[in-house]
Amino acid sequence: MTAGRAPSIPDSKRLPLLMRRLQKRVSRCTGCDLSETRQRTVFARGSQLASVCFVGEAPGAQEDAQGKPFVGRAGALLDEMIQQAGVPSGEAYFCNIVKCRPPGNRRPRTQEVAACSDHLHEQLAIWARSHASASSKRVIVALGKTAIEALLERRVDVGALRGQWKLYRGRVLLMPTYHPSFLLRPFKSQQRSRQQVADDLRQVAAEIGFQGEAQRARRPRLYAIPGGRT
Ligand code: SF4
Repeated sequence: MTAGRAPSIPDSKRLPLLMRRLQKRVSRCTGCDLSETRQRTVFARGSQLASVCFVGEAPGAQEDAQGKPFVGRAGALLDEMIQQAGVPSGEAYFCNIVKCRPPGNRRPRTQEVAACSDHLHEQLAIWARSHASASSKRVIVALGKTAIEALLERRVDVGALRGQWKLYRGRVLLMPTYHPSFLLRPFKSQQRSRQQVADDLRQVAAEIGFQGEAQRARRPRLYAIPGGRT
């Protein structure tokens, strides 16, 4: 009698399991000094089945307190812009390139980004394979210089690169754009930068087959800083 092969687990069950295991590993990670100052690790927000994965730099104070990415003012602005671009909320998944908050919201250091990169690339690989249909499009939106450089693995000028489709690891479409925190800073061309991010997100929405309010109305839309959350 020959030994039978164990029945294979379908991807619909295996991939959520792999993501939960990765999240558990991250929650115990002491791979860099940020583990000593974090309150909690910040892994992801949204469904891993989402078509679009928004990748930011690092958790801030609110994210560190809640354990979820993009829940402060920058997150509220990003949520509003995503909605206005026409990406349904269920089609957005959020994470950062480092999973622990750098003290004082400083930029993560090169060695911290490197220490966390295996977590990030594994998370993106599972997300990219998790989409409901293999033929459905998946798009990464890289938010800000640190995230763009970590994902494209080269130095970039965000102003020159944003709005142009790139490929992540030769496989997944990637749209580079500004980080929403940058859009919250007062500076002379802030409104223009907001419009540029809105344009970039509309390209993303169109790529995955959705149209936003602004497109339907055929008029440019200007974005206000959302109130309420800090
Ligand atoms: Fe580990 Fe990443 Fe947190 Fe550093 S930032 S402790 S590598 S999870």
